[in-house]
Amino acid sequence: MLKVTNATKAYSNHNILKQVSFCLNPGQIVALAGPSGSGKSTLLRCIQKLEKLDSGTITHKGTTGFVFQDFQLFPHLSVLDNVTYALRVTKKQPANDAQEKAKSTLKQLGLKTAYNKMPHQLSGGQRQRAAIARALVLEPDLLLCDEPTSGLDGPSSKSVAELFLNLKAQGVTMLIASHDLDFVGAVADRIIVLNEAAVLRDFMIEEKGKLSWAKLLG
Ligand code: ADP
Repeated sequence: MLKVTNATKAYSNHNILKQVSFCLNPGQIVALAGPSGSGKSTLLRCIQKLEKLDSGTITHKGTTGFVFQDFQLFPHLSVLDNVTYALRVTKKQPANDAQEKAKSTLKQLGLKTAYNKMPHQLSGGQRQRAAIARALVLEPDLLLCDEPTSGLDGPSSKSVAELFLNLKAQGVTMLIASHDLDFVGAVADRIIVLNEAAVLRDFMIEEKGKLSWAKLLG
């Protein structure tokens, strides 16, 4: 569904991505794991076309949804309005249809009581869920998430992991940049390890469980 071929990018003389290649199969959770600064975020942003590669290609038949590390919810809009925004403004759907769809997505993500709250009134975990709802309501073929557990406490991270496993069971394909190995170990079917701008390792996980940087980078 997604094919990345020799993706290469540099800022000034600093390599951010060096000849990165991989394909994604539908229905899997794939983690892009790697230390801070290894190029994970830049790769996701290039896939979402928020940034351009210097060379190489990214092809994807279908639509992507993007969940930013800092959520980027509209601070002046309620949770419900955040989630209906793209349906109303970009997709030009009637307000009633957009609301119905947004409410059903928010309910599924455990935010039934938060429709009318403002983003600043939510906990970190709820904000993450609202940002995921905003991406999911557009029914993307591929959900791109940048560090979904950063800033979340243990229980909130666990509940985001459960949510992702539920979404996978519903057929959502996910590419998740994360340096949280507990989270990656709990959700990923496959890990692509980025290190110093290049793919160091790319492997399927047979059994979910404990991962260590020594194993991934060693
Ligand atoms: P990761 O998500 O793995 O932490 P990033 O993709 O955010 O890595 O960053 C990779 C490298 O690119 C880092 O060294 C970072 O400082 C640099 N970088 C990211 N964005 C920019 C930018 N807009 N201008 C210059 N350097 C950048």
